[in-house]
Amino acid sequence: MSGQTKDYSKYFIAPDLLQAKRRGKEEVQIVQFEQLPKELRSLGAGKKYLLQTYGCQMNVHDSETIAGLLEMMGYSSTEDEKEADLILLNTCAIRENAEDRVFGTLGRFKQYKLEKPDLILGVCGCMSQEESVVNRILKSYQHVDLIFGTHNIHRLPQLLQNALYSKEMVVEVWSKEGDIIENLPKVREDGLRAWVNIMYGCDKFCTYCIVPYTRGKERSRRPEDVLGELRELARKGYQEVTLLGQNVNAYGKDFEDLDYRFGDLMDDARKIGIPRIRFTTSHPQDFDDHLIEVLAKGGNLVEHIHLPVQSGSSEILKMMARKYDRATYLELVRKIKAAIPDVVLTTDIIVGFPNETEEQFAETLSLVREVEYDSAYTFIYSPRDGTPAAKMQDNVPLEVKRERLHRLNEVVNEIARQKNEKLRGEIVEVLVEGESKKNPEILSGRTRSNKLVNFSGPKHLIGQMVYVKIDQPQTWTLNGVWVEDQKVMVSGVSS
Ligand code: SF4
Repeated sequence: MSGQTKDYSKYFIAPDLLQAKRRGKEEVQIVQFEQLPKELRSLGAGKKYLLQTYGCQMNVHDSETIAGLLEMMGYSSTEDEKEADLILLNTCAIRENAEDRVFGTLGRFKQYKLEKPDLILGVCGCMSQEESVVNRILKSYQHVDLIFGTHNIHRLPQLLQNALYSKEMVVEVWSKEGDIIENLPKVREDGLRAWVNIMYGCDKFCTYCIVPYTRGKERSRRPEDVLGELRELARKGYQEVTLLGQNVNAYGKDFEDLDYRFGDLMDDARKIGIPRIRFTTSHPQDFDDHLIEVLAKGGNLVEHIHLPVQSGSSEILKMMARKYDRATYLELVRKIKAAIPDVVLTTDIIVGFPNETEEQFAETLSLVREVEYDSAYTFIYSPRDGTPAAKMQDNVPLEVKRERLHRLNEVVNEIARQKNEKLRGEIVEVLVEGESKKNPEILSGRTRSNKLVNFSGPKHLIGQMVYVKIDQPQTWTLNGVWVEDQKVMVSGVSS
């Protein structure tokens, strides 16, 4: 393979804060995905694909589109690495260990390529948007056939055709922000829950985050396209839809011809017959009063809000460029709780940001106690190349960061346990997703507030909304008993 001799630098702009912040002048086009030409529709006939997805819900959703395109080409899916004719890794760049795992997997797949030279091995997702990653693949993983990025997923059929007929590694990564492509085919994970992108990209530029560089500027889908997709999902009987975006409540800020924001979208979504509608993830700065007012109407808008705080210290928040301080965040929480008294709040927290002092960390602990989150994703800060925070000197030893994470998790778990304990004896509405991963005799599902519930019941309940009485609340899960004689008619209403 001679791919490493080509100059791929034209495909990239290395992360550059100043350049990236100047972006956004060119207009975003809305492009309708066209039917594939005949030769591409049969390219995968009789062949199998295996798609491995890393990272966030956005990637999971991109994988649904990738699977949709592949199945349109005639491929069928497999979980078995050995029988796959195409293996694609949809990667995540948010943390270094996620990248290491991908490189480990690529190394392992070299053997398959030797045994089966026709196998196509591809890498896509956020890692592909990083020039350093692509250079590393070109240099040390020459058995890879195809690399494409997050902005040109719709080009997969053509790229795959090139990879099949070319002896060189096919690399197509667009550093320009993508247009919005409508009507892409999708293979949804199950017939119950669906994820719907409402916007792409992020303009927040938190100093530790690579996403504004890998996913580009904020681009909102038109309301009629989002609502049309929701109505279609309602018609197909989906029970739960999660509206997706890196920062969903910036939705609509980029419309020049329309005064229509996330609150308006949720208000319209509320009128569509899908029993549960969620969203992820939100940024506190864009969480406006109208959105709170709409969420307080309840119905199919669930009472769960994931509201990443990242730190309880205003000084650290400033260094993170989060654009809010402790007091503003707490004021937002107060408003949300006043409007939605049974709201379940969850969050993301980074400990050990460069130079975080013990006092600043203690402010995070006190904020967690004050807000009383039902759960939190907690991480030790890890630098990402090209981000402003990666250039900051750091005087906090790793052992101190680990110890802080441990202390934080103890507080988070203690509160989670107390919150779940309050549900002892309560009857909760559960959407039954399937058998429990640990025990096939047990069914598991989620409450409106996204808590995992395990209970015994017949398999025909899978896919239904049922009531469960909680008798054994744990820190992470709720165990209960199916309330057989109570039927859920519509969300939140029992017969
Ligand atoms: S808002 Fe989220 S996605 Fe955007 S830069 Fe900040 S952490 Fe990254």
